Amino acid sequence: MTSSDLIRRTAAELADLLTAGEVSSRELTEAHLERVSAVDERIHAYLHVDAEGALAAAADVDRRRAAGESLPAAAGVPIAVKDVLTTKGLPTTCGSRILEGWIPPYDATVVRRLKEAGLPILGKTNMDEFAMGSSTEHSAYGPTRNPWDLERIPGGSGGGSAAAVGSFQAPWAIGTDTGGSIRQPAAVTGTVGTKPTYGGVSRYGLVALASSLDQAGPCTRTVLDAALLHEIIGGHDPMDSTSIADPLPPVVEAARRADVSGMRIGIVRELTGEGFQAGVQQRFDEAVAHLVDAGAEVVEVSCPSFTYALATYYLILPSEASSNLAKFDAMRYGMRVWPEGAPDASAEQVMAATRDAGFGDEVKRRIILGTYALSSGYYDAYYGSAQKVRRLIANEFAAAFTRADVLISPTAPTTAFRFGDKLDDPMAMYLNDIATIPANLAGLPGISVPSGLAPEDGLPTGFQVLAPAMADDRLYAVGAALEARLLAEWAAPLLDGAPDVTSLPMPAAATKEDAR
Ligand code: GLN
Repeated sequence: MTSSDLIRRTAAELADLLTAGEVSSRELTEAHLERVSAVDERIHAYLHVDAEGALAAAADVDRRRAAGESLPAAAGVPIAVKDVLTTKGLPTTCGSRILEGWIPPYDATVVRRLKEAGLPILGKTNMDEFAMGSSTEHSAYGPTRNPWDLERIPGGSGGGSAAAVGSFQAPWAIGTDTGGSIRQPAAVTGTVGTKPTYGGVSRYGLVALASSLDQAGPCTRTVLDAALLHEIIGGHDPMDSTSIADPLPPVVEAARRADVSGMRIGIVRELTGEGFQAGVQQRFDEAVAHLVDAGAEVVEVSCPSFTYALATYYLILPSEASSNLAKFDAMRYGMRVWPEGAPDASAEQVMAATRDAGFGDEVKRRIILGTYALSSGYYDAYYGSAQKVRRLIANEFAAAFTRADVLISPTAPTTAFRFGDKLDDPMAMYLNDIATIPANLAGLPGISVPSGLAPEDGLPTGFQVLAPAMADDRLYAVGAALEARLLAEWAAPLLDGAPDVTSLPMPAAATKEDAR
């Protein structure tokens, strides 16, 4: 098998090839590293590639397999990790200058579990600074490009992970989703992304954006791969006080059965129709018809408070972020900037100079918003009110789930937009997450699966499924049922992903500065 065949296989297929002894982890890892060398200059999915570490991990798996050791099912299949999870000995920047050069002394629990499962880590993927954004244009290291069209955004904040998987530079990857950063990039790159139930995957070692919303999860090309990865990283962790002790729902079994017969599927009225691009809505409607054909029953539900989800999120998230980011004080991690011409500067002056130089505009905007929302005199009016609306949203979800087993909507309102289109308009950027944010506010799981290409621009669209807490298995049942039907129709674009990136014209906007 040639290396260009290997990189197009799903993680599940690669795991089978490894188990059957038809390929070694070293060959697989080398094939992906070669692909990175060939195309990442164009895509910029990776911030750091760890060829040496990945090849050493691969050699270790090969040696253990040869010695007859019984290994975890996916041992030897390489993976990429969003640069917001700590990796011992490997840089972790969160897409920010302030953490440039920081090498964590420990692994996040998710990373530890990947290593225990025998997954060689290819590298760390690009992201909007501290996971704030929907396009990766806020990365301090320059944007990632969408493999379908290099002039367009790959979504964000986890555009690096989605683009790595979509351009065959990794069979699968880890992302994080605070308001949609796994699901929206999946939607606009034609890949699969799951945001697990809050507490279902450990947050230990995930550099916090908003602790009550953050959740790490799988970025893959198929629903089964997402379930397999979910199972590897999920489950209770004593190192995370919000980790759920109950066993993980049967996600892999659900993905394999792909059975939606008799399932009640609720279309959320507030998350469809007006404001959604015509082709996105059209592919959504067709997907619904496929699910009905597969035996599901469709109901319409209404959750009026979802209209306030975005406003609620943009009070709660900045509040938590302003507190979480206070630790970047020039004393403990990363960069330190001395104020110019002030050799006797105080610690406070060094902190101010460092934070001024180290944080980008979007991060500063949110720190200011959050500090304001939490300030005495305004706390009840802003943060307090937002928490009350958050409760209303959770209550409306609970009511909707008495009428439906899962809820559905398009994942993102539009297909991938062009660089620069929304960069100077924060509201336009924030609106990308209109359909994904409610699940984060309520702590619920969600998945985005490809629903075909929009007729007007030929770009990927995403279909979102939401489920009650700890019913993540339902996401995979619906996702896999839809995938099976859509693959029949869309086989080439869905599984073979984007056109060959090496042949796409290279855009002029190649750096963050150019994109502005
Ligand atoms: N785009 C959203 C934001 O900017 C979501 C980010 C995320 O999920 N990390 O906050």
